[in-house]
Amino acid sequence: MKLRVNSDPLAFASDELSILEANSLRRKIHSVGSAPGTQIVVDGKSLLHFASNNYLGLATDPRVIEASIEASRKWGTGAGSARLITGSTALHDELESRLAAFKQQEGALLFSSGYLANLGTIAALTDENDEIFSDQLNHASIVDGSRLSKASVRIYRHADADHLSELLAASCARRKLVVTDSVFSMDGDVAPLDQIASLCDELGAILMVDEAHATGVVGPRGCGLVASLGLEHRVHIVMGTLSKSLASSGGFIAGSSTLIELLRNKARSFIFDTAMPAPVAAAALCSLSILEREPELAERTRANATRLASGIDSAAPSAAIVPILVGEADRAQRLSRSLHDEGIMVPAIRPPSVPHGASRLRATVMATHSAEHIDSFIDAFNRVFVKE
Ligand SMILES: *Cc1c(COP(=O)(O)O)cnc(C)c1O
Repeated sequence: MKLRVNSDPLAFASDELSILEANSLRRKIHSVGSAPGTQIVVDGKSLLHFASNNYLGLATDPRVIEASIEASRKWGTGAGSARLITGSTALHDELESRLAAFKQQEGALLFSSGYLANLGTIAALTDENDEIFSDQLNHASIVDGSRLSKASVRIYRHADADHLSELLAASCARRKLVVTDSVFSMDGDVAPLDQIASLCDELGAILMVDEAHATGVVGPRGCGLVASLGLEHRVHIVMGTLSKSLASSGGFIAGSSTLIELLRNKARSFIFDTAMPAPVAAAALCSLSILEREPELAERTRANATRLASGIDSAAPSAAIVPILVGEADRAQRLSRSLHDEGIMVPAIRPPSVPHGASRLRATVMATHSAEHIDSFIDAFNRVFVKE
């Protein structure tokens, strides 16, 4: 028998990578040699860390670490199956009720990530009879959840309630789902939630808000934008993640008991996904307790962001994210490298995370940054920018 010699069916992969490389869009994963504190060792070099969403600095807090070790001893490291098959621990139940109380909602449901929370929830609530109204700059997990749902998707201009109003008024879909980030992940600005909630009331739309970057940072005790504006009864679905301020991993949906019960029965990314490991739940639970006892962590994070932004003449930030727009991807990458040489880790954010021509540095602060850390960033940034 003759051996068939085909050309490599995966040959396109190296072609695609070459194109990414040529456009300064090829991504690399750096090798990290330390825990993600305010200092981090990357590729063997110690850097001041301005790239993490571990906003409260709790991922290296000894209390959080201890809580996860203890849970590991008591409950083991892996959950072994989905919660609907093998049940879940008292830790999972407690974390859900504490998250519900934190968000001032009746109930909450855990998912293995924020990405999966958005994916499963949007797809469980809408189908081809429905319409989803989505901010132009919403997180990729909302975009992907909307695609998965088969509903028609209407994109409204970023933070533009008037545009949303026009689109909503023209809709005769069975269900209308409006979904928005509260703090936008790449721009760090906030959605006009008051106006959006009024529109949804008026036009009978469901309102879902992604609080990934607001949780732990915005509002009293870091309760998020929804509760800090007193909108907890007008936002039907509050999504959050445990992977940022809460220093762990996983996501959650908070809302009415009926909504949570429906998601437990219908959200495929909940049903067919192994439960979050107990040590992961324990870390988030401990972070939440620390935040409740030390609400100044949220204030300190916001104050650090304000200090950093004012030092580089950037607009006043709403949360912990300070975007520095530079335009082209290669320039963003060059600036990020120069800052790396100055001992600062700050990522270049390039397409597809942001539109072409809108590449940027995205600096994020932590509650644990000292004034000196922030000032080192400002000095290095100003030195590098002048040289450009
Ligand atoms: C990070 C993020 C998510 C996803 O959360 P993970 O827990 O990291 O999967 C969802 N939405 C927004 C706005 C985010 O920034």
